[in-house]
Amino acid sequence: MKTLIYSLILCYPIFCFGQNTDSQFKWPDSYKAAVCLTYDDGLDCHLDIVVPALNSFNLKGTFYCTGYSTSLHNRIEDWRSITKSGHELGNHSLFHPCNGARFDWVKPEYDLRTYTLDRIKDELQTANSLLMAIDGKQERTYAYTCSDYKVNQQSYIDTVRTLFTAARNDGPIPESIEHMDHYFVPSWGVNNPTGGELIEFVKQAEKKGTIAVFMFHSVGGGYLNVSVEAHNQLLTYLKSNEKEIWTDTFLNVMKYVKKKGNN
Ligand SMILES: [Zn+2]
Repeated sequence: MKTLIYSLILCYPIFCFGQNTDSQFKWPDSYKAAVCLTYDDGLDCHLDIVVPALNSFNLKGTFYCTGYSTSLHNRIEDWRSITKSGHELGNHSLFHPCNGARFDWVKPEYDLRTYTLDRIKDELQTANSLLMAIDGKQERTYAYTCSDYKVNQQSYIDTVRTLFTAARNDGPIPESIEHMDHYFVPSWGVNNPTGGELIEFVKQAEKKGTIAVFMFHSVGGGYLNVSVEAHNQLLTYLKSNEKEIWTDTFLNVMKYVKKKGNN
């Protein structure tokens, strides 16, 4: 009896948290969860490694490219061409401002603590103009730089709401789509994960019926890296489960969520 009681106590959370907690929200078709593959900072490895890998699996990704990215400066036609094959060019500001108290590499002129709401709005709007000149699109999403969302101790999330369809921050897989703020969608900023760990993250979203957003930086060597092997293992898993898992750009997934959702 004691064993039974213990096992009931132990098992209960699995039943409670292992299921889709959304009563209203439904993903399209036969999908049980959504996955967004996002890549930050506009790096050459995105053009040279990630896009060919995604294309070989016919999967779409979102690329949060800064305005001052060296790769964007040197290879603007390559960046333009990836948007023609369905990948999203997302806004990641012009100068990647972050909170200098959190990171010692932040230059004083790009320290978010010294920004104002007007200045961040102007910077994000100018980055939108730059990206529109590249891909011709008026609708896009934003990724908070360093996942910082405050200028001078003031949240700029409401500014982001006026400029974008949705925005990505960091945090664990959401328990519910209905209660998720479209302008503060959590993601996992990976740092040398194994392929198994990447796949496990997707499985968590499948169990909850919600969304797994990956925040990648370098692929195949560099900072906050993921190996080509681990990345390919993830893509292989997504492709072989494509009837259950909707992998698409953050923009496409969030457009659907907004259409169906209630916030
Ligand atoms: Zn970044």
